[in-house]
Amino acid sequence: MKQIFTSLGLILCLLCSPAFSQGDFADVEVRILPVRDNIFMLVGAGGNITVQTGDQGILIVDTQFAGMSDKILAALAELSDAPLRYIINTHFHGDHVGGNVPLARAGSRISGGNMRRDVTGDTASVIAHESVLLRITTSNENLMDPDGWPTSSYFAGKKDIYFNGEGIRIMHQPRAHTDGDSIVYFRRSDVIAVGDVYRTDAYPFIDTSAGGSIQGLLDAAQSIIDEIIPVYGQDGGTLVIPGHGRLSNLGDVLNWREMLTLIRDRVQAMKDQGMTLQEVIAARPSRDFDPRYGDSERFLTAVYETL
Ligand SMILES: [Zn+2]
Repeated sequence: MKQIFTSLGLILCLLCSPAFSQGDFADVEVRILPVRDNIFMLVGAGGNITVQTGDQGILIVDTQFAGMSDKILAALAELSDAPLRYIINTHFHGDHVGGNVPLARAGSRISGGNMRRDVTGDTASVIAHESVLLRITTSNENLMDPDGWPTSSYFAGKKDIYFNGEGIRIMHQPRAHTDGDSIVYFRRSDVIAVGDVYRTDAYPFIDTSAGGSIQGLLDAAQSIIDEIIPVYGQDGGTLVIPGHGRLSNLGDVLNWREMLTLIRDRVQAMKDQGMTLQEVIAARPSRDFDPRYGDSERFLTAVYETL
């Protein structure tokens, strides 16, 4: 199967999408936020990057845009001298996988040497749900150079790796933000990097063209909540790194789930009454959340269409 992808990739790469490198990032700085123990969050342009450091090397979750990669590498060098060994992608969108190629090339496989014939040098291992692999290897729009492709994909519910003395569980969230979302649970540090199934800065983007749905997004919120153990009566406990926005805890994700639930129920009730999408948007079923999350039209449209 990989051979087929490889040939396709080499042919279609002539048409390689500029989406992964788009934008001018000259003025963007990368901020390093310590999260807990050896886990850090990098904020720059695009999705947040989660970093785990240790004796075995560096592991990151998501890669922002290709144009950010020099700054990302500089930030990683501040955190550790060790090589970049693993990249985990939460989903296929360009603001989360755009830096895969330069960052994978800057890293190296932990086993040493290169086990793939389709790349010329050693690269970091890339892990993602198989839907991510399919989308960035076969679609014109998202096509990526083979050096940035997942070297290891999974299709069952989860994939586990053990790295830097820590168990890391990668869990698929079906039909949520896309059809290939993963959340990544660092079990010793007690931190979950969740990609775009949860964010704090806007309503969710449900990518209906890539299999996203409101019910899947709600299920994903519930699976994050299921993994969180709070500290009774105070902040702390399991920490959640969102796809976009600020570091969160249980209370934040509970508020998010409540927002999703209320808006789903309101839109469902309006749809049951026979209201059209335009009528639903005009009725403003999200009005009490708009001051916090901003414009809701795209979100309401996706909720309406996937109910
Ligand atoms: Zn996304």
